[in-house]
Amino acid sequence: MDHDVLSAFDGTAGELDRADPLAPLRQAFELPKGVVYLDGNSLGPLPKAVPKALAQVIERQWGASLIKSWNDHDWINLPSRVGEKIARLIGAGPGQVICTDSVSVNLFKVLAAALGLSARPAKILSEADNFPSDLYLVEGMNTLLGAAAPAIEVVQTDALLEHLDASVSILLLTQVNFKTGAMHDLAELTARAQAVGALVVWDLSHSAGVLDLELDAGNVDFAVGCGYKFLNGGPGAPGYVYVASRHQGSVTQPLSGWMGHAEPFAFSEHYEPAPGIKRFLSGTPAILSMTALDAALSVFDGLELAQVRAKSEKLGAYLIHLTDAIDDALELISPRDANQRGSQISFRHPLAYPIVQALIEAGVIGDFRAPDIVRLGFNPLFNSFSDIEQAAAVLKTVLMTKAHFEPRLNARKLVT
Ligand SMILES: *Cc1c(COP(=O)(O)O)cnc(C)c1O
Repeated sequence: MDHDVLSAFDGTAGELDRADPLAPLRQAFELPKGVVYLDGNSLGPLPKAVPKALAQVIERQWGASLIKSWNDHDWINLPSRVGEKIARLIGAGPGQVICTDSVSVNLFKVLAAALGLSARPAKILSEADNFPSDLYLVEGMNTLLGAAAPAIEVVQTDALLEHLDASVSILLLTQVNFKTGAMHDLAELTARAQAVGALVVWDLSHSAGVLDLELDAGNVDFAVGCGYKFLNGGPGAPGYVYVASRHQGSVTQPLSGWMGHAEPFAFSEHYEPAPGIKRFLSGTPAILSMTALDAALSVFDGLELAQVRAKSEKLGAYLIHLTDAIDDALELISPRDANQRGSQISFRHPLAYPIVQALIEAGVIGDFRAPDIVRLGFNPLFNSFSDIEQAAAVLKTVLMTKAHFEPRLNARKLVT
């Protein structure tokens, strides 16, 4: 792969862009002039289809049809409809994905559901480098469960396989590491976990939309993922839950709200879970946020994810190629092998925070991840090879001119 990718860099960035079949998709997004946006892995930019879709739902549905919209505009089935759109992006057949709640909340539901399926004494295996919220949720669930809590084993990434034995009942992993971009082999780890009798729970927050995912083919048990990163659903967009069909009849989840009830409008006294994936709903869906995500997903209509992935690999290789050895203190911490990383390139540098601030001032928006990481994410739907070229040039200039030594750039903001 790397060889093919590198041989593609004989041309200039402009030539690479002209040869890029996905280049026209950039027009589907609002992107401020003069900005190179390399943070779509944290908050996707605004797709042009979103304001129109929102205005329509606000004015013509909410405004004109009021509560009748739940039926007349089928708001009640929006979580399923958006779930099915996401299903196509992650290689899931129908009836297994639903759009709902934040990743954190969904992870709680899914973990509890998986625990309920596990017959033997429960133990959750995860990695120390997982996204912190995922581990916090395990802690929260364990506090709630008290004496019935599963054992937790959180190990270094390179020790995962050696700890994956028959004592493990749930393997909980994020496929693409938020700091380094390093990617787990989803099918391989799923198979290994299942070989020792464990269930797998995958967090796809940094995967969906940029990888060619095959959840069904990989025999995945459960997954959750994010709506506002590479899916561009907007700030706080709802996430999604995937539960393999084979588990749906036997799982329950503890946030057993009325929207996950078999008959929400029977208002019966006791909870009875809806058949299928709908039981992973809890409360009333956020129709406006979900409408934004729904419209954002239309950018993927007719797109082959394999093509998106291929461009992502090239963008990453190009960024590595252009930043190689620009400064001794800037250490590449993402895998060089495109097959082993997601859609981001990260560097370690002792002055990472002011470097990122200097980049942002120069119009290259990436982000900082504590304690010392410069993170540049790229989305093949709107990022060009020219973006990558400009980002590399600005990074080089910042380091050479020591623009990041400016004391003002060290003032930490609330959100990094
Ligand atoms: C972004 C992200 C989340 C976000 O969770 P929310 O509850 O939606 O804020 C969770 N897990 C991973 C791995 C993430 O990257």
